[in-house]
Formats: sequence, C-alpha cells, structure tokens
Amino acid sequence: MRGIGVGEVLLLRTQEKSVLVDLPAWARLAGHELLSTADDGDGSGPWQLAILRGQRLTPGGSGRPHQDAFTTGSAAPVGSRLWLYSNFHCNLACVYCCAQSSPRADPRLLPLDVAAAAVDEFVGQGGRQLLITGGEPFMHPELGAMVAYAAERVPVVILTNAMVFGRGARQATLETMDRERVTLQVSLDSAGPALHDRQRGAGSHARALAGIGQARALGFRLRVAATLHDEDLPSVGRLHAALDNLGVADDDRLIRPVAAEGFADDGLHISLDSVEPEPTLTVDGIWWHPVAVTNPHLLVAESPLPLAPAFDIIRDVLAVQVAGASEGREVFRCT
Ligand code: SF4
Repeated sequence: MRGIGVGEVLLLRTQEKSVLVDLPAWARLAGHELLSTADDGDGSGPWQLAILRGQRLTPGGSGRPHQDAFTTGSAAPVGSRLWLYSNFHCNLACVYCCAQSSPRADPRLLPLDVAAAAVDEFVGQGGRQLLITGGEPFMHPELGAMVAYAAERVPVVILTNAMVFGRGARQATLETMDRERVTLQVSLDSAGPALHDRQRGAGSHARALAGIGQARALGFRLRVAATLHDEDLPSVGRLHAALDNLGVADDDRLIRPVAAEGFADDGLHISLDSVEPEPTLTVDGIWWHPVAVTNPHLLVAESPLPLAPAFDIIRDVLAVQVAGASEGREVFRCT
C-alpha cells in the first residue's frame, strides 16, 4: 500500500481463501478500506479484492477539497506528552464523541493517587506537558486537587466544553487553578450555533461561548478546538473570523477531523499505522491515542501504571514500523 497514494486503489488477485478473512481485518487496522471482493470463478476462487488506501494524519493533505483546513504538526516524542482521562461521564452526548461519553456513561473516575503517581513517573522521566480530558473533566469531583498536584510539576492543558463551571463548586475549582500553568482548551465547532448545536446538542454553542468569556475574564490562556467532518470544512473560514473577534491567537486554534471511533459512524480511521502515538492513561489502562480509548486494538497496557513499560511498547512498535517501511521484508522459504 505504501507504493500508492492516499485515495488510490490497489487491486489484489488471490487464490488463497484465507485472504478473504485476513485482509479485511488488516485493512481496517491499517486505516485502509476494502471496497469490494469479487469471485472470478465458481466459488473456489480466484478472488479479486479492491483496497482503497486510507487517509493519514500527516502534513501534505490528501487531495480532497478543504483538507488543508485541518491542523497538522510534528509528532511529539514518546514520553514528552501524557494524556489523562480524568473521567468518562459528560453533560453532553456529542454525536461523534470518541469516548462514548454522556450523562449516563459510567464515570470511570481516575483516582487521585493514580493520577499523582502517573504525574510523578511522567515528570521523572522528562515529561513536558500533561493533557487532561474526558468526558468532561470538571465533572470529576477531585479535578481541582488533581490539577493542583500536576501543575506544580508540569504545564497542564484541560480539554473542556466550558459549560459546567459557571457557578458553584466547579466555578470555585476553576478559580483556584494556576493561570500560569493551566491552559483551557474549549470545544467550539462553528462560528454560529447551527453546526455546533447539531453535533453537540441544542444550546451548547451559546453556553460554550459563555464559558469562553468566563475563562478569559479569569485570565486563563484559552485554546479553541473544532471537530469537523470533511463536508463541514467550508465553514472553517467563518470560525476563524469569529476567533479573530474573540482574540484567540492563531497558535491556539485547532481544527481536527472526526475520528471513526466511539459514537462516530464515519470519519478518519484510527490505527497503529495511521496515527502517531499520544500515550493516554485511563483508569483501565494505557492507550495508543486519546481518540481511541474505546478501541481494544489500541490498548497498550491493561493497567494505568507504571508508564515506562507502556512507553517502551509504543517505542518498539514505532521502531518496527520504521524498519518495515525502510527495509521491507525478506522472503524466507523453507520449502
Ligand atoms: S465530545 Fe467532549 S463534550 Fe462531547 S460528549 Fe464527548 S467528552 Fe463530552
């Protein structure tokens, strides 16, 4: 597949029946799409399979319209960034939520002592940035303590829908956070409410804007992230204009594709081959990437601690992938 471009089709002809089982599974894992399987004979083969090379999250685009609107960047070295899922429940139930979060989701709270131990190990081996996501992190009853512990040791980014810290104890939690060490990344999919509310629920756009205003008034650095399907990319220009008006810096804007994970029926296919790793800790284990925590194929370790063996596994997988890409494979025949 590396010999053809993204969006091009490879036709494979085979007499081997096991390919009919193995190839669809491999294509799904590798981020490609099996378009068709045709039997050229009487049911005993040969068979012809058409495989569409999948999209990759790398700079350079795919040739599809508006794809350049998505934010790109360099892979973070393994060990430099760590994602924590503080919890899995959320006040929203967005149609594309990769974590399958909702008000009814099992909270699966990350215990404070596990988060602290992860921060200690991460910082001890040179970690540079901690990112806390969910679910809605501000629904974790100990988020304040978790962030306070972490922010003393490493810069922290919290991903939030900015809708639940408007008053009460969560407002107090927000107000105690260190403005120099804590950044808020707020989800905002569109300039106006139509698209955002269609994806995230009625009234959520207005409440996100209110949360953005509140966080800015408190002096937080604010990042804004939009999650979009390809067909919604033409709206990105209006979103950037709105962010200009809000005073959000260019470097603090993120336009990312919907991932075909969790609640999403379609979107970017995520696999070990198609996305660079971003080690992610949940109460259940360690995962390859934060958008794939419902995908058992991307579970790296079945325990959230320790981090080091999981980081080593991820580095080993990367090394094998690099070696495979540069050297190919030897033919080793025994008959
Ligand atoms: S996408 Fe974010 S805001 Fe929406 S349900 Fe999932 S965790 Fe909640």
